Amino acid sequence: MSAPVLPPKPLPSLDGPNGEFYRRLAATRELAFQCCASCGRLRHPPRFRCASCGSADTSFAPSRGRGRVYSWTVTHQALHPAFARETPYAVVVTELDEGVRIVSGIREMSPDMLALDLPVEVVLEEAGPGVVLPYVRPRRS
Ligand SMILES: [Zn+2]
Repeated sequence: MSAPVLPPKPLPSLDGPNGEFYRRLAATRELAFQCCASCGRLRHPPRFRCASCGSADTSFAPSRGRGRVYSWTVTHQALHPAFARETPYAVVVTELDEGVRIVSGIREMSPDMLALDLPVEVVLEEAGPGVVLPYVRPRRS
């Protein structure tokens, strides 16, 4: 008996401010976050307006892609059938050195290696046509 064919993994929407983040990431292969052009505050996930000053003027500021594990969860039962063969897998919240947090999967480590404040760095992987996703791995330097 052969293994069932799994559906494709869901990918982020490429519409609106969220899409701007992912389109930029795919085009540049450099992690960058929305930055308020009025007060300079970084924000993620992307939004139409700054939560600090209300300005709609935005730019993007590059990130070094280095941070520490802020929190995580390990999933033992796939919430989407496309992930059925990957359980258990971890979903990690990383606080980057610039102060914003991202949610991602992990690379080059197993879920049992996760620890609070573990130094990590972002690696980018192509997930589909025009879509690049950030993951974190243990920091190498
Ligand atoms: Zn602002």
